[in-house]
Amino acid sequence: MRIVLLGAPGSGKGTQAQRLAERSGMPQISTGDLLRTAVTRGTELGLKAKAVMEEGRLVDDALVLGMIRERLGQPDARAGFILDGFPRNLVQAAALDGLLAELGQPLDAVVQFEVAPAELVRRISGRRTCADCGRVFNVLTSAPPSGAAAICPRTGAPHRLTQRADDNEATVTERLRVYDEKTRPLIAFYQSRGLLRAIDAAGEIDTVTQRLAQALGIAARRAAAARTAKSPVRRAVRAKPAARAAKSRARRGKVPRRKTPARTATKSGRRAASSVKRRGARRRRR
Ligand code: AMP
Repeated sequence: MRIVLLGAPGSGKGTQAQRLAERSGMPQISTGDLLRTAVTRGTELGLKAKAVMEEGRLVDDALVLGMIRERLGQPDARAGFILDGFPRNLVQAAALDGLLAELGQPLDAVVQFEVAPAELVRRISGRRTCADCGRVFNVLTSAPPSGAAAICPRTGAPHRLTQRADDNEATVTERLRVYDEKTRPLIAFYQSRGLLRAIDAAGEIDTVTQRLAQALGIAARRAAAARTAKSPVRRAVRAKPAARAAKSRARRGKVPRRKTPARTATKSGRRAASSVKRRGARRRRR
């Protein structure tokens, strides 16, 4: 599946993206993580992004789009991905649409995480990240990790918990303002495309994981149904039982036999349906 997780800073999309990635095998693609890595490594991109990130503003679209284009082109993203923190504004959303259209891989679902503003601030102030493996914990909203969960898979030693530089009060206020101004309009954007599902992201992490799984299950079934409806061969196959029933009624003299097989809506569908009919006739002659 190709999924976007949409939500304000602190809404838990990073935590849920991590869990979903572990369970599904799809990569979690977090533009925030990619940018932080660039800052730590001191790359050209990192040097350009650092000050903007510290102020809680959005990094230049061209830089982020270049980075995401490269990441989505990597082999592990071909079978699906979970986008976390991208897109962040309408320009990025339109560019993502174009990029995925080029790759012939449209989005399957956008899940919006709903959390009250006071809870967002509380979650952000308790957020800690392991400096070695990047796993996210919260010292205010969940119990400290214990047993195997307390050990970093990278180092084999206990996690080294650090607080993000932009998780301070002043920057958080700016990040929430930027979310309302630039990112919130994406809700209507994806709603109008029939891709949006909103979930209540307050409460226990496990409960939110279940709500996310349910939302994605519904989205996956819808995407599969939409793909089936678009396929002319599938339409013809679906039309086959109806055509057979019509022939059988005609044979039994119940209704006059139609000259044409059951009609399908489009030219390509009709072509596929008549090829099904020709195959049936050949089989009967043999
Ligand atoms: P996050 O880890 O998603 O909270 O992102 C941390 C910071 O990285 C943000 O406050 C922005 O400065 C920057 N950032 C992350 N993703 C994007 C994006 N898609 N567009 C622009 N800036 C971003």
